[in-house]
Amino acid sequence: MNKITLMFPGFKTKAFTMNFDDGIDTDIKMASIMKKYGIRGTFNLNPGLFSPEGTVKPAGRSSIPLTVSQAKELFSDPAFEIASHGDRHIAMAHVPGAAAMVEAVKSRITLERTFSRLVRGFAYPFSSYDGDTKEILRLAGYAWARGNKDKDDFLLPREDEWYDWRGIHQMDGRFEGLVDKFVTEPNLYYHGWLLYVWAHTYEFEEFGTWDRIDGILKRIAACDDVWFATNSEIYDYVKAFRGLVWYADASAAYNPAPVDVFLRCDNGEFRVPAGGETKVTG
Ligand SMILES: [Zn+2]
Repeated sequence: MNKITLMFPGFKTKAFTMNFDDGIDTDIKMASIMKKYGIRGTFNLNPGLFSPEGTVKPAGRSSIPLTVSQAKELFSDPAFEIASHGDRHIAMAHVPGAAAMVEAVKSRITLERTFSRLVRGFAYPFSSYDGDTKEILRLAGYAWARGNKDKDDFLLPREDEWYDWRGIHQMDGRFEGLVDKFVTEPNLYYHGWLLYVWAHTYEFEEFGTWDRIDGILKRIAACDDVWFATNSEIYDYVKAFRGLVWYADASAAYNPAPVDVFLRCDNGEFRVPAGGETKVTG
């Protein structure tokens, strides 16, 4: 056995996910475009900053925070995951540790109670974080967190990178080139490629780029080698792949996870069923 590589569900060689900050009313339009193309993603909310019910957007403003009832309607759809962006958008590494702890825990409790859903991810406001912040999030029960240090590759996070999960911002100068590569190049040899795109949806309103992002998503949605998932669905799947238990001679794998795992090795492509074993040698 020379090499075992991760494939995504359905033997897909690529995955696509999106991530949005701030919980604002332009998220509604973004979600409708994603829905049109079957694209899934994660929205990072500040429960301490929701608009009061009935708030009318002032003239000239590109966006305002969602109301709770708007958010409840939008996020009743399981294609859209809810994550935390802190309770009130505090710079986590620029406040005392106790204040950061309150942001992490209070926002998670409020979001989970409001939406009756588990909250497992976090996006750092102002991309402010350090080692203590990561530890606070881990203890508060978050599985992963996203900052804004972008990268221009499709590598999955290593195990020590889940609290520093990097994607590419939709206005990064490298974004369109990366989309081109993702759509046109087959991934024949490597672990599943992940294109992770993040944004603030007010940007599409302010810069008049709704049609541009619509066109990009349409192009990605037309690819038949791509798996569409929320951030935590990607996390769970990668964890399941890495959690396979292999026989010492790599002849077979046992999958203790509750999801099927797909992989490629010297002898072909294999599915290891949830809770089952699969032999991968002749
Ligand atoms: Zn923010």
